[in-house]
Amino acid sequence: MNSFAFFNVGRQGIRLGGAQLITRHCGYIKAKQDPDEEKMQFQHGRVKLPGSRTYIHPHTYEDPNQAVRDFAKEIDASNIRIERVIGAGEFGEVCSGRLRVQGKREIYVAIKSLKAGYSDKQRKDFLSEASIMGQFDHPNIIRLEGVVTRCKPVMIITEFMENGSLDTFLKKHDGQFTVIQLVGMLRGIASGMKYLSDMSYVHRDLAARNILVNSNLVCKVSDFGLSRVLEDDPEAAYTTRGGKIPIRWTAPEAIAYRKFTSASDVWSYGIVMWEVISYGERPYWEMSNQDVIKAIDEGYRLPAPMDCPVVLHQLMLDCWEKGRSDRPKFGQIVTILDKLIRNPASLRELANSSECREDLSTPEFSVNTVDEWLEAIKMGQYKENFSSAGYVSLDSILYISVSELAKMGVTLAGHQKKILSTVQSLQTQGPHVQV
Ligand code: AMP
Repeated sequence: MNSFAFFNVGRQGIRLGGAQLITRHCGYIKAKQDPDEEKMQFQHGRVKLPGSRTYIHPHTYEDPNQAVRDFAKEIDASNIRIERVIGAGEFGEVCSGRLRVQGKREIYVAIKSLKAGYSDKQRKDFLSEASIMGQFDHPNIIRLEGVVTRCKPVMIITEFMENGSLDTFLKKHDGQFTVIQLVGMLRGIASGMKYLSDMSYVHRDLAARNILVNSNLVCKVSDFGLSRVLEDDPEAAYTTRGGKIPIRWTAPEAIAYRKFTSASDVWSYGIVMWEVISYGERPYWEMSNQDVIKAIDEGYRLPAPMDCPVVLHQLMLDCWEKGRSDRPKFGQIVTILDKLIRNPASLRELANSSECREDLSTPEFSVNTVDEWLEAIKMGQYKENFSSAGYVSLDSILYISVSELAKMGVTLAGHQKKILSTVQSLQTQGPHVQV
């Protein structure tokens, strides 16, 4: 396939070679608050959201050392055994080794150290990662074991992730996982991101290179450095740890006017989905950053990677909605992925299989059952919901209402809209489904 065969997701639908293929209905249930109106109550630097634990920005501390003391455990350097260098971080080497915790067995850890000759600001930025990470406690977020600040070198100790960063790991194992394994990894990342967004933490640099993988294929979100998120610095939006905004991973509103929100993290998550399903391919291949920005603005989106299930590409496209409130929330993404894992048949239809292309080149075909109809409109994941609610014949769905859909568990606004509009065409045109 031509790697530049983008999907144009303008209002009218996805177009490929000029023929309209799928009418897109987007729009997820709006968050209770529009992101624009997300009013957070700042109290002594605390962001308060009802019913959730709150993330405290280390910069709200007058003394950043206090943030480290509050959120990270001081570890005695004599309990750490450094074994080998495994990578290079922004501030110095990353090593693997072991940590002896009193009363517990030794555990494998990763050790990041701050290279000699650092400035005060570098020390503060380096340790800010620990004060952020130390506030999180979730199986899909990299766990902080502690810090060494009382002697040199200053170190940050985290759990060890045997398989390293996700992008490298996938490239090394190209084509070796089942789609369910890949969806399992994506589910983990989405779950970690839901946790972060519930705590009002916006990551800003979600990408496969910033996900770590352990020996059980569990994926964990990492890279919580602060140096790229200094709101007061006019340069900051354009400088990340690597120097620039990661254009290919970043939502258009974040590139254009620095509107970084959990919804822009969802955009990046869609790119991570694409990276995972394509086993570490570079998003937009060798296109220049400027060309990527222009293509996105014109409505183009990455096509489905090879062997990508239709439902997963659809979810990616949903994450890349231009309007950020039309994108799914991380909680919804977790729910969708859970359903796909429980019902692997829903992953069978591939976006770029010859079977699928045949279907798509035939814009209309007949359906006989509710199951067939749901498959045809790409809502196959709701087959169980319909049958257990008693909707077994096509006649029975002709007058279904939005509240009935919600009752049976179809809660996403975009999916409700899609189902109701095709029900309408069933009423007028009979069992001929336009795809
Ligand atoms: P970072 O500075 O966090 O980007 O880390 C640099 C590199 O070190 C990463 O790309 C990983 O390959 C490796 N690394 C960092 N943290 C860990 C960890 N907890 N377990 C295993 N490898 C890690």
